[in-house]
Amino acid sequence: MIEQNILEITAELSRAENIVIVPHKGPDGDAMGSSLGLWHFLKDKGHHVKVIAPNDYPEFLKWMPGDEEVIIYEKEVEKSDKLITEADIIFTLDFNDLSRSGQMQESLKASESVFIMIDHHQEPADYADYTYSDATMSSTSQMVYHFIDKLRASKNITPEIATCLYAGIMTDTGSFRFSSTTSLTHRVAAELIDKGAKNSEIHNNIFDTNTESRLQLMGVALQNLKVNQIYNTAYITLSQEELDAHNFKKGDTEGFVNYGLSLKGVIFAAIFIEHKAEGIIKISFRSKGDFSVNKFARENFNGGGHINAAGGRSEVSLNDTVVKFNKLLPEYKDELTK
Ligand code: 5GP
Ligand code: MN
Repeated sequence: MIEQNILEITAELSRAENIVIVPHKGPDGDAMGSSLGLWHFLKDKGHHVKVIAPNDYPEFLKWMPGDEEVIIYEKEVEKSDKLITEADIIFTLDFNDLSRSGQMQESLKASESVFIMIDHHQEPADYADYTYSDATMSSTSQMVYHFIDKLRASKNITPEIATCLYAGIMTDTGSFRFSSTTSLTHRVAAELIDKGAKNSEIHNNIFDTNTESRLQLMGVALQNLKVNQIYNTAYITLSQEELDAHNFKKGDTEGFVNYGLSLKGVIFAAIFIEHKAEGIIKISFRSKGDFSVNKFARENFNGGGHINAAGGRSEVSLNDTVVKFNKLLPEYKDELTK
């Protein structure tokens, strides 16, 4: 984002009364952390601002300051559409294509407001008036910090803003261990701690609120783990029946896919989760090194994401999806076995 854009955005902000912030569908820690961090910042500046999430998200994200003010589009369509129509500025956070806003996409497309994208996914679509896109960034939450800094307003970062942004950076970097974590990421995290983010408490709020049934479901997932030594690949399946038997709630399977990647030698991991109600298999992919799961998900499973973390979906049965996956591996032999 060049300096000229920041001047224009500053002018847009000074005119704007109503602002809407939209994270991606199936919001994760970074989507909610960046949205709520920006929400506090704009609200404190005196704007009338709402976060509208396309759909609901896990309990372990619902402790963030300001969460009680978030509107879930699926639950309040009419009210949300009115806010979208009346918005002077719409920020879209942590996604690169309007299709990632799910059911909201039609209302967003119809809106005449100024769109500002802040996002760290590759290949941003061209819908925004201002596109702040940087795939080298650890997280959108880190970018919101830089955005506030570019507006010369980092002195206005409150403990609430710091807490939300820190939570987003921490979750999207796998607690600062993914290769997207740079020295700059750590500098931003340090600044946020100085501004009031209580790092240990935040970690506790996100990771140490398990239920027994979730840990038991993790046991099932680990029992179902299959390893393909030839292609350095591991995958996990969870059927609807298995989810139902363990009182599955949104977010319960978060992080399971990473266990495949923790196996020595494995560079490609996947988890296939059956969603009977939607008639799909939701898939998460993770990789180490330069095997691009973004490319793999785009080419084969109608998805996308980042080089080392992506997702997609399949509309055939769980079994057929796994068969398809295994048949695809030889096509990627060179990249998986070097
Ligand atoms: P997760 O596996 O945690 O759901 O998602 C990992 C990454 O892939 C996230 O950055 C997410 O935005 C992206 N992603 C997940 N599912 C999809 C999908 O269906 N389509 C696209 N384009 N990206 C996805
Ligand atoms: Mn993100």
